[in-house]
Amino acid sequence: MKITLGDHSRVFGKKISDMIGQNIDGCYQCGKCTAGCPIAYAMESPPHEVIRLVQLGREEEALASHTIWLCASCETCTSRCPKNIDVAAAMDALRVLAFRQGQTGVEKEITLFHKLFLKVIERFGRVNDLQLMGRYNLLTLNPLKDWRLGRKLLAKGKLKLTTPPVKGLQEFQEIIKRVLAKRGEGA
Ligand code: SF4
Ligand code: SF4
Repeated sequence: MKITLGDHSRVFGKKISDMIGQNIDGCYQCGKCTAGCPIAYAMESPPHEVIRLVQLGREEEALASHTIWLCASCETCTSRCPKNIDVAAAMDALRVLAFRQGQTGVEKEITLFHKLFLKVIERFGRVNDLQLMGRYNLLTLNPLKDWRLGRKLLAKGKLKLTTPPVKGLQEFQEIIKRVLAKRGEGA
């Protein structure tokens, strides 16, 4: 069956292609990306199908897909692709677009985790496990979820109550502020 792509598919495919710096039409649906994806078993639409949605201009379905939030950015798909398509970057681009369009309701807890992760990095300049998991558990109404494990890790010194200072933290925070302001997401 011959599929003729309309203008809209061209626009959406080009948008993603521009974001990843590659022509996504190069994908010929061999499925090698999906075969190597460690999370594919949990995805409704495996990676190669999401790429197909992009090629066909099915923006709404691509941005509403759980797959883009389940993707762990491990880049196995990218390294396996015989056409050198950066599938992981495409997943990233789709997440960015979904986020900008407020379509983050699909996997609420995953998007919350992403947001908190960035907030903690912005505040401390590095990951602070206690802050991150504490806030996450609180906001998901599960405050005591990891307390047993947390206590063990604290006792073994694997979890720190304080975060060692980071050199150039102020400059780093300024950079984050400027990026957020540029994207219209500043405080
Ligand atoms: S491995 Fe590459 S060419 Fe094959 S389906 Fe995935 S993105 Fe397309
Ligand atoms: S980057 Fe995402 S889509 Fe690609 S193999 Fe890893 S989890 Fe799967």
